[in-house]
Amino acid sequence: MKITHHLSDKLLMAYSAGTLPEAFNLVVATHISMCDECRARLAEFDAVGGALIEATETTTTMGSDALAATLARIKAGGPTERAVPAPRAGVLPQPLHDYVGGDVESVAWRSVGGGVKQAILRTSEHASARLLFIPGGAAVPDHGHRGTELTLVLQGAFADEHDRFGPGDIEIANEDLHHQPVAEPGVDCICLAATDAPLKFRAFLPRLAQPFLQI
Ligand code: ZN
Ligand code: ZN
Repeated sequence: MKITHHLSDKLLMAYSAGTLPEAFNLVVATHISMCDECRARLAEFDAVGGALIEATETTTTMGSDALAATLARIKAGGPTERAVPAPRAGVLPQPLHDYVGGDVESVAWRSVGGGVKQAILRTSEHASARLLFIPGGAAVPDHGHRGTELTLVLQGAFADEHDRFGPGDIEIANEDLHHQPVAEPGVDCICLAATDAPLKFRAFLPRLAQPFLQI
C-alpha cells in the first residue's frame, strides 16, 4: 500500500494528548494502523508529551538534573509504547473492525441515493463518524465544510477537484475547501469519514435530505 496523504502534525499531537473527539480518534487510530510513517511520527509526539509531563513533575522535586536525564531518555527511545495492531485480511483495519464489531458484511448500510450508502457509527456527540460506500464511478454531492472533515480511504479510490486518494490516504478538508468526491471506476470505494460540523450542500435536494441523513 503506497500512502501519499498523511495526518497533519496538529492531528497527531492532539491524538497523542488525548484531546480529539471520539470520531476523529477513530479515524486517526485507523490511519495509524495502516501507516508506518504516521505511527513513527506519533511515537515521537508520545515520547515528547510523556517526557514533558515527567519533566514538569520531577524538576519541581528534584531540580534540573532530572530534566536533562529525561531528555536523554527521549533521545534513547522514549518511555511510551503503544500497542501496534496486527494487519487484518478484511477491508476494515483492526480499530474500526473492533468498533463495528465485524467487517464490512456486518455494517448496517443505509442508502443515501445514487447508489451511495452510509452507516453512522456511534460516537460522542462533538463529532460524527460514518462509513461511506460509493459505487465505482459514482459521486458524492458537491459540498463545502463548516468545520473539519477527515476522510480515510479503506478500499478503492476517489478523486475530487484537488487530488486523488487511494487506500490508506486521508483527506483533511476545512472551511476553505469545496469539493465533489467521485469514486474511481471499477472498485467500489469504502471510506471512513468524520466531521465536527454539518457539511454545506449547494444543491437543493441534498440540502433537503440533510437532516434525515445526519450529514
Ligand atoms: Zn500516514
Ligand atoms: Zn467533504
